[in-house]
Formats: sequence, structure tokens, C-alpha cells
Amino acid sequence: MHEYSIVQALLDRVSVEAQARGASRVVSLRIRLGELSGVDPGLLATAFDTFRERSVCEGASLAIHQSHAVWACPRCQVPIERGAPLRCTGCAVPARLIEGDELVLERIEMEVPDV
Ligand SMILES: [Zn+2]
Repeated sequence: MHEYSIVQALLDRVSVEAQARGASRVVSLRIRLGELSGVDPGLLATAFDTFRERSVCEGASLAIHQSHAVWACPRCQVPIERGAPLRCTGCAVPARLIEGDELVLERIEMEVPDV
């Protein structure tokens, strides 16, 4: 499943960040998931639950913030209203996707022991 490899990559990245900062554990993660990313948030959460065990993220919570797709005209940059045809009413050119196909790790909260 697609979501499993995404979570694996996510955990690898978080593990690198945690090690670099000497964190003892990761408390929470927040990711932004575009509605056109092709990733199912439910499957992603399930995959995270499965893979976080025995990783630095064991016990960490995952918050998934879903972002809407944003389209705009590539010529005049005018945003296309949500639900409207994906074509600029002024220039008659097809709209371009500005945002909404991304998966971004927005925040990692971790515990770093005092030295
Ligand atoms: Zn336009």
C-alpha cells in the first residue's frame, strides 16, 4: 500500500531529526495533507499506528491537517473559485494547481533531555 511507504519515509525522516537533536522521544507530529495528494488520511493514520511501534515515534500522536486544493490562472494569477470550472474566465486558459497535492511535515514535537 502506498500509505505504508509514505509512513516509512516519514518515520525515517523524523528519526534523523530526533537523533540530530538528541531527543529521547517524539511526542507528536503534524502533517499537512493536500486533498489531491492521492493519500487517504485514514489509511495514513492506520499505517502510522502500525509502524510507529519500536521506532522513535512510539507513543507519538499524529495530527493530519487536510488542505483544500487551490487553483489559479497561470497567466494572470487570478485564483479560481472553489467548485468553479478549472479555466480562467478572463484568459480562457486552463487553471494550474497551486496547492493541494502536497504532503508536508509541518511540526515535530520532541522531548530532549537536559544535559
Ligand atoms: Zn487569467
